[in-house]
Amino acid sequence: MPIFTHPEFDAHEEIVFCHDPVSGLKAIIAIHNTRRGPAVGGCRMWPYASEDEALTDALRLSRGMTFKSALADLPFGGGKSVIIGDSHRDKTKPQLLAMAGFVESLGGRYIIAEDVGITQDDAEVMQRRTAHVAGTCAGGAGDPSPSTAYGVYMGIRAAVAHRLGQDSLKGIRVAVQGLGQVGLHLCRYLADEGARLIVTDIDQNAMAKAEAEFSAEAVAPEAIYDTPAEIFAPCALGAVINDDTLPRLRASIVAGSANNQLAEARHGAALAKRNILYAPDYVINAGGVINISHEGPGYSKEAAVKHVARIHDTLSEIFRRADAENIPTSEAADALALERLNSVPVAA
Ligand code: NAD
Repeated sequence: MPIFTHPEFDAHEEIVFCHDPVSGLKAIIAIHNTRRGPAVGGCRMWPYASEDEALTDALRLSRGMTFKSALADLPFGGGKSVIIGDSHRDKTKPQLLAMAGFVESLGGRYIIAEDVGITQDDAEVMQRRTAHVAGTCAGGAGDPSPSTAYGVYMGIRAAVAHRLGQDSLKGIRVAVQGLGQVGLHLCRYLADEGARLIVTDIDQNAMAKAEAEFSAEAVAPEAIYDTPAEIFAPCALGAVINDDTLPRLRASIVAGSANNQLAEARHGAALAKRNILYAPDYVINAGGVINISHEGPGYSKEAAVKHVARIHDTLSEIFRRADAENIPTSEAADALALERLNSVPVAA
C-alpha cells in the first residue's frame, strides 16, 4: 500500500500504524498538520473493508481537521484516528486502553476525541491512560454534539440570508437526513424558529420522536433526496452528494453536519453548476471542536457559544468570495483555510 504517493496523502506530518497483539487493536493515527497547535481530531471505529479504506479515511479526515481548525481560528492542527473493527461487536476496554497508550506515546502532538463508533464513555476510558483526550465530561467541555448543532443552525441562517435574502427561517422547509446526536438538536433549533421539517432516519424511533416533538413530516431514507425543500441538511453519512443524488436534489441550499459530504471534490463544482449553495462541511460542522477549544478550568459556556456563532460570519465571507471569484464555495473555503494556515509562522 503506497503512502507518500497515496491519492489522499497531502504532506501529512506523521502517520502511526498501531497494533496491540494482546487486545487485537489495529488502528491508524494520522497527524496532518501541527502548524497552529496540537493535532485534534476524533477517533472513528468502523468495520473498514480494507486497510486502504481505513488509511484513506484517516488521511482525508485529518486534513479536513486542519482546515476546520484554521477556519474556526483555533490553536489546533489537524489529526484523526481510526480503529479497524465493528464498534458494536469488537470494541473492548483493553483495546481502548491500548489506543490511549499509542496516543500517550505521541506526547500531546495528537489529542483524541469521540467520533463515529467511539462514545464519550469510551473517551473517558482512554483518559485513564492518557491526558490527551478532549470532549469528555470528566474535566472536559462535555458532549460536542449540541455545539455542533448550534453551529449548523447558524450556518443555515447564513445560507438562507445569502441565497434567499431572508433573516428568518419561518416557513422555510428543511429536509434533515439523520436524527442522531446532532440531527435532533438541530431540529429543535429549526422548529423553534418556525421552519418546516421533513426528516428521515433508518431508526424508526428517531423518526417517531421528530414527528411527535417537532411536528415533522417523516419520509423514507431514500426519498429525502427527492423531497421538495429549500434546504437539504445531511446529518448522517458522508458522500451523500454524488452522481446519483445530485440530479435528484430539489433544494437550493445544502447545509448539514455530516463530514465529507462531497463524494469527490468535483461534486463541489457540480453543486455550484446547478446553482445550489453549498455550506462546506468542515466550516459548518466546527461547533463541537470550537467548544472543545474552550475546555479547561476557566471554561465559559457563553464565550464558547459566541465563538460557535462566528460560523455564520465565516460562511457569509466564503459565500461572498465564491460569488466574487466565480468559484464553488468548496474552493473558496479551501482557499481561505490555506490563507489562515499559512498566516501562522512555521515553528523553528
Ligand atoms: P449519530 O450516529 O448520533 O447520528 C447519525 C444518525 O444517522 C443516526 O440516527 C443514524 O440512524 C442515522 N442514519 C444512518 N444511516 C442513515 C441513512 N442511510 N439515512 C438516514 N439516516 C441514517 O451521529 P452524530 O453525532 O449525530 O453525527 C452526524 C454526522 O455529523 C456524522 O457524519 C458526523 O461525522 C458529523 N459530525 C458530528 C459531530 C458531533 O459533534 N457529533 C461533529 C462534526 C461532524
